[in-house]
Amino acid sequence: MDTFSKAERSAIMRGVRGKDTCPEMAVRGMVHRLGFRYRLHRGDLPGKPDLAFAGRRKVIFVHGCYWHGHTCRAGRNRPSSNTEYWIAKLDRNKTRDAANRRRLRRLGWGVLTVWECELKSAEKLRARLARFLAGGKL
Ligand SMILES: [Zn+2]
Repeated sequence: MDTFSKAERSAIMRGVRGKDTCPEMAVRGMVHRLGFRYRLHRGDLPGKPDLAFAGRRKVIFVHGCYWHGHTCRAGRNRPSSNTEYWIAKLDRNKTRDAANRRRLRRLGWGVLTVWECELKSAEKLRARLARFLAGGKL
């Protein structure tokens, strides 16, 4: 069932593709203001995490809800045309994300996934980021 209009869908498709998307920039800004330093898209780590904090051995992924299959409304929404192709593609994204998280954890990295929809409540997200980055054990 496709609950977005055509225009909304193409906005979603455009908006969350690739690097330097708005949600990612917003998270970077928050983390920066919290006083943490990071590196971007480290190619030597599984999944090229959006933000990596080498000293703390922690990484953050910022995921678009649609492309990465979040459990929220945007993430559960499925295309109504070319269905099999898109569903297979979206499922592959989820599988790949999970594999990358497992690999990182095996290598001793703490992993936090921030979802696009979490940016709606900046206060809560900021607290979550601070807890993750300042915390010891995950
Ligand atoms: Zn979401």
